[in-house]
Amino acid sequence: MTTEPLPQNAAPTRPHAIPSYLDSTHLGPWAIYLEQVERVTPYLGKLSYWVETLKRPKRILIVDVPIHLDNGTVAHFEGYRVQHNTSRGPAKGGVRYHQDVTLSEVMALSAWMTVKNAAVNLPYGGGKGGIRIDPRGYSQGELERLTRRYTTEIGLVIGPEKDIPAPDVNTNPQVMAWMMDTYSMNTGKTSTGVVTGKPVSLGGSLGRSDATGRGVFVTGAEAMKKLGMPLEGARVAVQGFGNVGNAAARIFHDAGARIVAIQDVTGTIASEAGIDPYTALEHLKTTGRIVDLPGSETLTQDEFWDVTSEVLIPAALENQLTADNAGRIRARVVVEGANGPTTPAADDILRERGVTVVPDVLANAGGVTVSYFEWVQDFSSFFWTEAEINARLERLMREAFASLWEVSQRHGVTLRTAAFIVACTRVLEARQLRGLYP
Ligand code: NAD
Repeated sequence: MTTEPLPQNAAPTRPHAIPSYLDSTHLGPWAIYLEQVERVTPYLGKLSYWVETLKRPKRILIVDVPIHLDNGTVAHFEGYRVQHNTSRGPAKGGVRYHQDVTLSEVMALSAWMTVKNAAVNLPYGGGKGGIRIDPRGYSQGELERLTRRYTTEIGLVIGPEKDIPAPDVNTNPQVMAWMMDTYSMNTGKTSTGVVTGKPVSLGGSLGRSDATGRGVFVTGAEAMKKLGMPLEGARVAVQGFGNVGNAAARIFHDAGARIVAIQDVTGTIASEAGIDPYTALEHLKTTGRIVDLPGSETLTQDEFWDVTSEVLIPAALENQLTADNAGRIRARVVVEGANGPTTPAADDILRERGVTVVPDVLANAGGVTVSYFEWVQDFSSFFWTEAEINARLERLMREAFASLWEVSQRHGVTLRTAAFIVACTRVLEARQLRGLYP
């Protein structure tokens, strides 16, 4: 296995402490994040003095979320809000409803938000939240009560200038509307800027719903340009057909690419001739599953990784590209719509095989970028057109890609390491300038 070249005179790193609140034998996604920080520390020069700050979240809140179920009983759920870092601005990051949510996962996701916001230069730190629940088994009324109680429990630490949640897996504009209303009720004033990803009629931003997928497209297309790959007719395989994967598939399709495989939690379909993502979405809405779409063949979940494509977009969950399947990937470019879909071991294999990975902290930053536009619009109560938003988003994503590409070429490192170098430098510079209190 090759490792990236280390710069000369690299500052020595210090071992990080294992937090007592995680199982030290199985740190989960947090271990992946720590390894990414270890890899980048030699490039931080004197700022590596402060690197320990990045290895522990600033604040962790674990809350009990009890609700009345429709059947008259009471159920308790475990909720989290983690603020990883606020050196550059308020914490910012989504809220996930999923049965496998753990503290380690929310910690890692909050840290990746710190890195992402700094990598694309948004004036935010990083945060993330989650509730351990499979929302598919609950009614709208139950989910509303869950959301309102969770918002009240984390109300101590969130706020438009403190920590601003947004949608993530299994949460959506309706959930954000409930969060905004609950926070506003509890504080006695309408506070639209407390969450982003709201419905447009409640201070949401035009262009927000497709923003993450649009950013995936823009950064993926920029990578293809650098590699001399034509977009027209390029084969694209997408894992995850929700907010991110669906928008990315539609925008790649509209730009002339061919969607050759789609996988979601209900199954996997493929077609060498290409799948129309609009038809696939209609099919999913009417039948509740992606398989049996006319003109497509059904694959097993594992066969998805063998599909030949130019571009692979993991847009579901973390830990999808691992040492077990990275050797099978046939794509030349992986664009990470999801957060943390590639383990460090898989990263090494892909690098050795010449696969360019556009990392999550760049590729899926379009969502938080338009969330930032939404927050700015809410503060000024002045709203921009969709064309303005898309143009600003595309410009910002293109510029971020270009500067990270330049850093990756200069140091001879992957785009992920480049993004971490730029982001960690920005965060630690702010840390150093602010100093330690007291
Ligand atoms: P979503 O809930 O809208 O969609 C998730 C998709 O993943 C669904 O199609 C689901 O069927 C699929 N999926 C779930 N488990 C799967 C499995 N085991 N195998 C295959 N497919 C599976 O969520 P989303 O908002 O699209 O988020 C997807 C990813 O993108 C997450 O990692 C999230 O953190 C990241 N992300 C989202 C945003 C955003 O704006 N929504 C922004 C940045 C990053």
